[in-house]
Amino acid sequence: MDDRDGFIWLDGKLVAWRDSRMHVLTHALHYGSAVFEGERIYDGRVFRLAAHSARLIRSANLLDYDLPWSREEIDEATRAVVKANNLTAGYIRPIAWRGSEVLGVSAIGTTVHLAIAPWAQEGRLSVQARDAGINVTMAKYRRPSPETAPGHAKVAGLYVICGIEKDRALKAGFDDALMLDWQGRIAETTGANIFLVIDGRLVTPTPHNFLDGITRRAVMGMARKRGWAVEERDVMPEELARASEVFLCGSAAEIVPVGSIDQHHFQAGPVAKTLMADFQKLVREPDSEGFGDATHLM
Ligand code: PMP
Repeated sequence: MDDRDGFIWLDGKLVAWRDSRMHVLTHALHYGSAVFEGERIYDGRVFRLAAHSARLIRSANLLDYDLPWSREEIDEATRAVVKANNLTAGYIRPIAWRGSEVLGVSAIGTTVHLAIAPWAQEGRLSVQARDAGINVTMAKYRRPSPETAPGHAKVAGLYVICGIEKDRALKAGFDDALMLDWQGRIAETTGANIFLVIDGRLVTPTPHNFLDGITRRAVMGMARKRGWAVEERDVMPEELARASEVFLCGSAAEIVPVGSIDQHHFQAGPVAKTLMADFQKLVREPDSEGFGDATHLM
């Protein structure tokens, strides 16, 4: 992955892909202090670019550091990456981290770096996943409480348990794992938010201390636009037995129907399919780079 053509924006300049490197004593590598985003390019534009750049800055602030670039500068740098790599579709990974001047838990005195890397792969769902839905299993680890970690930040360190659970799920033949929160309520999967359809109403967990996804906000907006009832509330795992449909959503995943969560089976049904079609239109609207429904990040 590192020896290929292309350009990555690194600390203010477009750098050749194979020369985009950092030092082994980087604080983020040792202590998990990197913050990042995952964005998607549609027709040459990054969906909700402003919201993603704002969340990147906010994630760093939640870890008590500032990025030396404004939201507008990060937006501009991201557009430069899309252009330099000639991408009309694909994925973008901005990542900010604390440097290598200090070896120790405290990062006071380290410089802050920012890289913005593109990835041409679209990660589209297979036709089979779109029709039947993916298979999910319950995770062992839980999302932390607000007293334990800043769960609204998209921070590398908070992905450690997601990585363990995703690997465990894949090795057991599942596609993903559903994580509960510290009180046993349904939270999110290892890289996406979750919606359930119960008695014809769209239900999604309140993000007390997990990522309040940009796609999640877009889904709520699209559903309300169709006049559908959307409930944002605490959701217990027992409620899976009453759900007719379940789907996941996230920038990389887009909207993915869930066929099963362990013993619970769902139809990859009409609600998810309608929203999937609406989403493909929304991401191509001319003002798609703005905040849209992600006003919580403005
Ligand atoms: N939860 C987790 C753990 C994620 O990694 C993601 C993907 N960033 C999401 C939710 C969905 O967030 P978004 O829609 O902003 O991509």
